[in-house]
Amino acid sequence: MDHFLYRNGALHAEDVPVATMAAEVGTPFYCYSTATFERHFTVFQDGLKALDPLICYAVKANSNLAVLKTLARLGAGADVVSEGEYRRALAAGIPGQRIIFSGVGKTRDELRFALENDVRQINVESEPELEALNDVALSMGTRAPVSMRVNPDVDAQTHEKISTGKAENKFGIAFDDAPAIYAKAAAMAGIEVVGVDMHIGSQLTNLEPFREAYTRMRDLVERLEAAGIPIPRLDIGGGLGVPYERTNSIPPLPTDYGKVVSEVFEGWEDREFECEPGRLIAANAGVLVAKVVYVKHAGDRRFLILDAAMNDLIRPALYDAWHDIEPVVEAEPGAELFAYDVVGPICESGDTFAKARMLPELKPGDLVAFRSAGAYGAVMSSEYNTRPPAPEVIVKGEEFAIARPRLTYDDMLGKDCIPEWLTEQT
Ligand SMILES: *Cc1c(COP(=O)(O)O)cnc(C)c1O
Repeated sequence: MDHFLYRNGALHAEDVPVATMAAEVGTPFYCYSTATFERHFTVFQDGLKALDPLICYAVKANSNLAVLKTLARLGAGADVVSEGEYRRALAAGIPGQRIIFSGVGKTRDELRFALENDVRQINVESEPELEALNDVALSMGTRAPVSMRVNPDVDAQTHEKISTGKAENKFGIAFDDAPAIYAKAAAMAGIEVVGVDMHIGSQLTNLEPFREAYTRMRDLVERLEAAGIPIPRLDIGGGLGVPYERTNSIPPLPTDYGKVVSEVFEGWEDREFECEPGRLIAANAGVLVAKVVYVKHAGDRRFLILDAAMNDLIRPALYDAWHDIEPVVEAEPGAELFAYDVVGPICESGDTFAKARMLPELKPGDLVAFRSAGAYGAVMSSEYNTRPPAPEVIVKGEEFAIARPRLTYDDMLGKDCIPEWLTEQT
């Protein structure tokens, strides 16, 4: 459930009409709902309460500081994948002891930064990274708290670009290598083994891959402990899918997911559990609002040309993703629908949000909202075509505030530097 609903025919975010924000901020813009973020976090927490995990929100889904602060106030930790995200989590008031550092290519500088900032745990993804971390920790006279990310070789049954738990993916250490690498880690003076970690992919809509992966995790932990390596913490990753297509997709609910986790780890309630949901918390807490620039009829096709583009929301181009599109002024019941190709202004055919999407008749100046745009939306935006990325607005009840302003053209041009040889007069 989210808080983007029609009231008297006008789409609202909580108590604020979307059109009001559009008039004030201009289009395109992202709009987030505080109440929806809070609700998703709470529902997820309730679904997993049997194991009472520390919920380390995956910052990469939406790293706006206003969003992070909203979640931090609910007690969220953070799962970060770069020093930049680590700094964002700290800036939002999430202490190092609630930050997990994940990622396949952390540099020595990033590892040092994490250790200097009281990191809860570093999820190590390879033997070379383990050795580098050991070196860094020893040079600082400390020990690094480590979980190894183990690749369970399970098919997550999701889009190939966001599947991470198969042997062919770049993530984690091979399942069969884990006992030997754990034995090595346990003997390193700069490493303190604290747990095991798994994350098998994103937008999972079937629970069986989770069950399979967690069962393998449990077996591995038993094996490691039999070999004398205690594993107090289990990081079960993120990845639970969300309904992008409201009318015909019903992914498992957090309670169903929680049931699977509880079944697999029955009797293990005394251990420390951690999880890393991103999309589930953020996706349906945001919309991207755009304005119709032109409606172009070409042969029997109708193109709806918007002022938002793939630089604002790249998911359709990158993952063939579906986003529901709704007019901000609700269509009359029974209004005729037309098939629109919904596109942006960028000079590539990939800048297409949807093909033959059935929508009521729209005219230039009308507003539309892309639903489920709160995760992997603004964070993946760029300045391609020297377009200022859509700004971000956050709503709470009757209030709204700009959480990231639109860049000016001076901001954008001012980032470039001219080398001396081009400034000399000729
Ligand atoms: C991306 C990622 C997540 C979050 O995935 P969602 O599908 O957004 O829940 C969690 N953990 C790691 C290591 C990730 O890379």
